[in-house]
Amino acid sequence: MGEKKKKIVKTIKVDLDKCNGCRACEVACSAFHAAPKYSSNNPARSRIRVIHEPLRDVYVPVYAGEYAKAECMGRDKYVIDGKEYDECSFCRASCPSRDLFKEPDSALPLKCDMCEDDPPQEKPLCVQWCLNDALTYEEREEEVEEEVKQEDVERGLDSMIDKYGLDKVMDTVTRMALSKKG
Ligand code: SF4
Ligand code: SF4
Repeated sequence: MGEKKKKIVKTIKVDLDKCNGCRACEVACSAFHAAPKYSSNNPARSRIRVIHEPLRDVYVPVYAGEYAKAECMGRDKYVIDGKEYDECSFCRASCPSRDLFKEPDSALPLKCDMCEDDPPQEKPLCVQWCLNDALTYEEREEEVEEEVKQEDVERGLDSMIDKYGLDKVMDTVTRMALSKKG
């Protein structure tokens, strides 16, 4: 068991009734994460995507979640207001079965980071630019186990190993460790 730590849990509440599909959230997110910041915008680089089926008239903003190394064994299918959506439409994972939530040039996974910044933003950019108030930001404090951080490191390494291969990643880590010692 690890040590208990206080952690701020950040939540974005999505109200589908208020979303009109303007996609300002996608533009704001991709511009905020561009390098340099605000130098470009491209919804394909956004960590929030608005899923819309033209004939089925509902807009669902979906946030980029965890990286998945392999496709999952099952499939999710949603019916909303009697309208059936494509399989996996609302899944948050960056996974091998589709292009969603992957950096278009490098194919590295994208994940919502709640616009962590220094100095911190008052609210995430997608919330700031959602003029219809479909997105609402909330924070609360919780006690969590330290180990959570270790899982994050492993997930990040997994994704790098998939992209560059174990040998390259090992070489780089060894070289970095030696340079820090020396
Ligand atoms: S919280 Fe920030 S990183 Fe996450 S989707 Fe919104 S703008 Fe993008
Ligand atoms: S900015 Fe708000 S209203 Fe526009 S698509 Fe995004 S969530 Fe929906």
